[in-house]
Amino acid sequence: MALSLEAAAAAARACTRCDGLPLGPRPIFRVSASARLLIVSQAPGTRAHECGIPWEDAAGDRLRDWLGLDKARFHDATRVAILPMGLCYPGRLPRGGDAPPRPECAPLWHPRLLPPMRNLRLTLLMGRHAIAGRLGPRAAAKLEETVRDFPAHLARGLFPLPHPSWRTKVWAARRPWFAAEVLPALRQAIAAALDGESGSRPDGTG
Ligand code: SF4
Repeated sequence: MALSLEAAAAAARACTRCDGLPLGPRPIFRVSASARLLIVSQAPGTRAHECGIPWEDAAGDRLRDWLGLDKARFHDATRVAILPMGLCYPGRLPRGGDAPPRPECAPLWHPRLLPPMRNLRLTLLMGRHAIAGRLGPRAAAKLEETVRDFPAHLARGLFPLPHPSWRTKVWAARRPWFAAEVLPALRQAIAAALDGESGSRPDGTG
């Protein structure tokens, strides 16, 4: 029998499946049966691991700017859910940068946490790990091709985006279509998801 959202969330918060997490298991996510917007991100960083709150850093500020949401609306747990591909901080790569999300995590927890969120209207896929995990073969070879093809994915309730890390400032500066075409459409989709009429959700959001 499928777990309730509360039971699935409690089980995920108690998860210790992965060995070798450098700071130990500490799943960071936020789910709600009434959520309309879901942000599928990569994995928590050290700041989120320490404070227990996702996106409380410069990348979070950049993301809120993209979405056109202030902190109060972004952190409204009744409307906005946050579920990384890996729920715990995965550590650093030897050559620098955060390690990828633990591969066992999303297959273990997403199928338990997503179906009970029946009011989702829009799912943002933040960065290549979320895009690969949710779009699979529908993703283009290059991230920018997938992002630029957002209308095709939006029809299924999905919006692929780059991860809003500091590197993306340079990436976006070289691709003016991102600010001119993608961000206005993103803000419009966010407003429709959060403030529009409720109804049956598009295919692909869960
Ligand atoms: S990363 Fe995921 S699977 Fe691994 S311990 Fe954390 S919650 Fe469990």
